[in-house]
Amino acid sequence: MNQAWTLTIDKEWIAWLTFDIPGEKVNTFSERTLNELDALLDELAINEAIKAVVIRSGKPDCFIAGADIEELARIRTPQEAKEKAEAGHAVFGKIAELPVPTVAAINGSCLGGGLEMALACDYRIVTDHPKTALGLPEVNLGILPGWGGTQRLPRLLGLGRALPMILTGRPMPGRKAHRIALADAIAAPEFFEDEIRRLVDRIVTRTGRREISQQRKRRQPRWLRFLCATPMGRRLVFHQARRGIMQKTNGLYPAPLKALEVVAKTYRRRTLQEGLSIEAQAFSELACTSISRNLVWIFQASQRLKKVGASATQDVPSIRAVGVVGAGIMGGGIAWALSQAGLRVRMKDINWDAIGTGLASAARMFKARVKRRKMTENELNLAMHRIAGTIDYTGFDALDVVIEAVAENLEIKKHVLGEIEAHVRPDTIICTNTSSLPLNELASALRRPKRFVGLHFFNPVNRMPLVEVIGGRSTSRETIVAATELVRRLGKTPVVVGDCPGFLVNRILLPYLVESAWMFEEGVDIQRIDRLLEQFGMPMGPLTLVDEVGLDVGYKVAKVLEDAYGQRMRVPCALGAVVESGGLTGKKSGAGFYLYNNGHKKPNPQVKDVTAEARKQDHISAQDLTDDQIVDRAILIMVNEAARCLEEGVVADPEVLDFAMVMGTGFAPFRGGLLHYADQRGVGEIKLRLEELAISFGDRFAPAPLLEKIARDGGCFYADGAAPNGDAH
Ligand code: NAD
Repeated sequence: MNQAWTLTIDKEWIAWLTFDIPGEKVNTFSERTLNELDALLDELAINEAIKAVVIRSGKPDCFIAGADIEELARIRTPQEAKEKAEAGHAVFGKIAELPVPTVAAINGSCLGGGLEMALACDYRIVTDHPKTALGLPEVNLGILPGWGGTQRLPRLLGLGRALPMILTGRPMPGRKAHRIALADAIAAPEFFEDEIRRLVDRIVTRTGRREISQQRKRRQPRWLRFLCATPMGRRLVFHQARRGIMQKTNGLYPAPLKALEVVAKTYRRRTLQEGLSIEAQAFSELACTSISRNLVWIFQASQRLKKVGASATQDVPSIRAVGVVGAGIMGGGIAWALSQAGLRVRMKDINWDAIGTGLASAARMFKARVKRRKMTENELNLAMHRIAGTIDYTGFDALDVVIEAVAENLEIKKHVLGEIEAHVRPDTIICTNTSSLPLNELASALRRPKRFVGLHFFNPVNRMPLVEVIGGRSTSRETIVAATELVRRLGKTPVVVGDCPGFLVNRILLPYLVESAWMFEEGVDIQRIDRLLEQFGMPMGPLTLVDEVGLDVGYKVAKVLEDAYGQRMRVPCALGAVVESGGLTGKKSGAGFYLYNNGHKKPNPQVKDVTAEARKQDHISAQDLTDDQIVDRAILIMVNEAARCLEEGVVADPEVLDFAMVMGTGFAPFRGGLLHYADQRGVGEIKLRLEELAISFGDRFAPAPLLEKIARDGGCFYADGAAPNGDAH
């Protein structure tokens, strides 16, 4: 097999170690690549002629993406995990112990094990390439940096700067890495080679090394150094960090807490070797938990889904210019995503005021990126120039794709789709962003339904990574492929789903929201419902989510689903009563289930008034529910609907369904999605629970046929059992 690492020694006695795994787009550390590096380091250690070592990548925009995730997923026992961590420590230890200065030359992504290796080098140089990103994303996989990251990063940067990197997993661009002294030099990619040599020239002299060390100190704010210099200051920093984690994760994710514990136990208290051994032990305790397995599975699923259908892309028509019709909340967001990906956009609405609103919401999304230093003001201006507004269809004959995003009304949409078709070329693809209307009905307004497809973006477009791609009865295969390719170009993950009211995500999510409204009608405190589901792991409580979406919008979609699916999606009268009580549209109007004031929210006493009357109309009585009943009613109604979607073929397999629910709704990622949750809890137990709920609260809980069958067979939704492993709850 071809080597991934090559060693060359130039005439100035600089050793260049180049990492370039043949046939792979990115470099990762597997057992094999780590062993190869190990052997070369042994060779270097005994070569007394060498003056410095530079470690670099042969890939155009990736230094090292981290450890091989497949190997991580295969770890079976804590002992195996510990050995993996120790193997990394041993190899990186050899880098740190080389008798000559070492440099990591970082262009492109430098994540996880990649950064841990770079930290074992004496110096780092980065490029300002947009793809250069340095970070320790391990906590997002339910583990902690296990190859020295919890030890070497705080030693290099101090607690104040190292902890956020370790605890949030958020990567930083090259420029920031340089600013905070994580990198000692920075260069434009074109001059990278020259700058590496310049850095090497400096570090081979004692003066050069001293200068760099002073430069590092200068880049550390004095107050931060001072704060972490005393035990009391450190205790304060750890206390604040712990509070931040608890606020963000509700204590449901053990990895950041464990990582914090390791740093707190070791920083300025233990030698590097002792620290590494504590780190390896903590890593082994996390790596085999069901939480870590579920999080690793999500990562793997996202990688797999990004590639699905990608091989069939040779004959995808090239897309350069896209039209967006309807410049509202969604139209503005979609225009942003298109322009962000470098496409030209033509945005049409019925008047200039509406165009102004669409442009303003796109500009807001770009400004947020400028604020986070993800783009410059100049880039923002260029990106905004790519979006042109219009109130008629001039220029539509030059567009490759048009996305319709007008109001959710069948007649209006059919009319607009007909207009679009009359103004575009026969080969232009027409998409709709409808959230609930059946594709086939919309397609009836078109003469060329082959080139018509659903592209369901989620709100807010700049934050939601998922797009549902929906084919109607007549949609051609090429159109689906082109649409999924466009979604990928926008940096989002497409999931292809079947045409049914609500498609996949809303069809499963709405019963959850509606069930919460039933419980509200039965007299359960709204804060209690929200709190319990947050504790389950949902990103926000269901009634807060209804307020965020907008009560009016949510009610409309719920009614569409009630019309389509009948009794099992019946909407309680209380929801209609709240919507009709005037102005209670949720967060956007300052009042919904909650009252909103200056970023604070409190329950809205007004909404309770409607429940007694609504109960009468719905012929139900007030209920005294247990915590388990509340959670099970909200969650198992989704599991049941998910089983129906699977059975009807709305989605190809459980993996796509779980991934879509995690990415589209934020369903507790550490549980690995609805069907993993069901498998891990036991489908048989869920069936029994649904039957109990059906007796107490209505037939909508009657187990779906597929769920019954799986329970009868003692099986699981996933063919390989309660994968990715682990216990329930
Ligand atoms: P919106 O009311 O904010 O915007 C609709 C825009 O369409 C308005 O600017 C309106 O002037 C314009 N419009 C109406 N008739 C038009 C015509 N004939 N030609 C051009 N423009 C016209 O609505 P929105 O929330 O952006 O929703 C748009 C679509 O996206 C709907 O189908 C909705 O179901 C779907 N959607 C919405 C969300 C969400 O959370 N808002 C999420 C996913 C999908």
